[in-house]
Amino acid sequence: MHRNFIFDLDQTLLDFHASERRALEIVVTKNGLKFTDEVYDHFKAKNKSLWLELEKGTINRTELFTIRFNDLFDFCEGDSTGLDPLEVNADFIRTMSVNGVPMPGALEFVRKLREEIPGARIYIASNGATINAQGRMASTGLDKFIEHLYISEDMGVNKPEKEFYDICLEGIGEPKETCIMIGDSLSSDMLGAKNAGLASVWFMPSGDVDAAVREYDIDYCASNYDELFEVLKTWSNS
Ligand SMILES: [Mg+2]
Repeated sequence: MHRNFIFDLDQTLLDFHASERRALEIVVTKNGLKFTDEVYDHFKAKNKSLWLELEKGTINRTELFTIRFNDLFDFCEGDSTGLDPLEVNADFIRTMSVNGVPMPGALEFVRKLREEIPGARIYIASNGATINAQGRMASTGLDKFIEHLYISEDMGVNKPEKEFYDICLEGIGEPKETCIMIGDSLSSDMLGAKNAGLASVWFMPSGDVDAAVREYDIDYCASNYDELFEVLKTWSNS
């Protein structure tokens, strides 16, 4: 029976960027600084460049966390004297982990999947930090619908590595033909499904869709939750 649905988390069911923005607003405001759209855009751009530095090995995590908030303190209007960047960073991470934001319609979609496809089992496969993913899932109620969260920090391997999916499939305990991977990312979700030999749905495809479908052996595309539900229902009966 085709009943094991493996979902990516961020930008597939939860909105990572909305949580990040909300947490930043809370933390910046709480510390007496002024939060604006420009503050968030500035933080995002700086953060992105720092994560690239981290990947290259030119800075470590502590330096990344320190620099991103010292830089933000300089950018924000208000008195940042005496603020400790690492303390504010820790508060930001904590705040984000309890401020999950579902993608619009995501919870209704997941509920419908569980109700209308007999025996449906829903799993999450996500690259990232365990606390952040678990906390955001719990704060939205998404966790109630999920059999298990497979997350790279616990597993020591990331999507799209085949080993990541080997661990998922071992946990699910059913043949890979009964599983399908649903996600928004070509480089982690669709490539991961291809590496693992799983059926795949590219959620909210963009760009040169035909070329990507060929390159990544994608089985289905869906641009919204209604389409996704129909695709999964049909697949489950096949
Ligand atoms: Mg994603």
